[in-house]
Amino acid sequence: MKKVALYTLGCRVNVYETEAITESFTKNGYEVVDFEDFADVYVINTCTVTNIGDKKSRKMLRKAKKINPEAIVVAAGCYAQVSPEEIAEIEEVDIVVGTSDKSKIVDFVNEYKLSSEKKNYVNNIMSVREFEEMEIDEYHDKTRAFLKIQDGCDRYCSYCLIPYARGPVRSRDIDSIENQVKGLVENGFKEVILSGIHISSYGKDLGSENLVDVVEILSKIEGLERIRIGSIEPMFFSEGVLERLKAVKSFCPHFHLSLQSGCDETLKRMNRRYTADEYREVVDRIRDTFEDAAITTDIIVGFPGETDEEFEATYKFLSEIKLSKMHIFKYSERKGTKAAMLSGKVDPKKKEERSKILTELDEKCMVEFMEKYLGREMKVLFEEEKEGIFMGYTENYIKIIISSDTRLTGKILSCRLNNISGDGIIGELI
Ligand code: SF4
Repeated sequence: MKKVALYTLGCRVNVYETEAITESFTKNGYEVVDFEDFADVYVINTCTVTNIGDKKSRKMLRKAKKINPEAIVVAAGCYAQVSPEEIAEIEEVDIVVGTSDKSKIVDFVNEYKLSSEKKNYVNNIMSVREFEEMEIDEYHDKTRAFLKIQDGCDRYCSYCLIPYARGPVRSRDIDSIENQVKGLVENGFKEVILSGIHISSYGKDLGSENLVDVVEILSKIEGLERIRIGSIEPMFFSEGVLERLKAVKSFCPHFHLSLQSGCDETLKRMNRRYTADEYREVVDRIRDTFEDAAITTDIIVGFPGETDEEFEATYKFLSEIKLSKMHIFKYSERKGTKAAMLSGKVDPKKKEERSKILTELDEKCMVEFMEKYLGREMKVLFEEEKEGIFMGYTENYIKIIISSDTRLTGKILSCRLNNISGDGIIGELI
């Protein structure tokens, strides 16, 4: 049997697409093996959000050929889309695919087998107008299903290459989403996470349903117990949107709202289209609507021109709004973006210091958030097991750890939340 190994870098959308590529290989008679193992084909789904993403992508492409010098190595994804020539120059790479046509990778591999000619299939993503359907019936080792329903972004934040890697906004047809979710529920999935590159833009290109309509339609599917939304634009949450979401029983009150900076001047240079006060209003509105809302975020430190005063404004803002989890990133310059041309580069040491300060604040806020739930009874969907220890998440995304002799994976069970342990809470079944 032919063997394929896949490796994913980057975001949840890439994770979803790798699952879909995996399924297209298994449907064509391939056995899926670990990336470290000997395979006939290696697919690396690359990422270009940071320089580290580029570097790691190159490393994995080279590594694949080391494991099997005769293997066919495919570079796909955002880095391949943005820098196809750079990728094609890597000797170990045989096939280059961008962010579209990922569903055709098996065909490209078959063509390569006939000609043994290095091929670059990257096309002009800016002219792609259709959402590329990629079916998934099964997710390997998972109980929650990520569902990509939107692609592309037209926001052009000044530091970000993604609009160039992913192209214009494209949305998946609502019937196709519904059918896919019905199939996943039949296969035992209880939770879906709606994902996209700029998911609040869902439907803009179709001129029909919007994201809230999608949530409402999916909530009618019997057996689907949880609907979660992935990382989303903060300004999407108007009062009307929140009221409609509140009426959906299966909607999980977990909001990942990328803030990036709590200082208006920095936000302006980043081309984020809100002020810190507007973000705060959204946070308040969400908390007024959902008592148990968990609000998480991404922050960039060391953006060009970020002075000590600007960073202090961000720190002050974050200590006031107290989010339940912050992902801190040190600014990474991306060639071709507006931010790369800005003056006032921040010294790497300073970036490191700022990152450390915010990481400490994050740990404090995370514990404060979890403390509010100690002693409470909450429903947990269990996902993983390791030697009798099960791990799962509450609706508002608190990690729960429980020891049990019976298998809990895939079940939603009531638990009492007892003690904080690291980034989660140790619980007991009720
Ligand atoms: S919203 Fe901004 S950060 Fe997010 S993908 Fe679009 S351009 Fe990049």
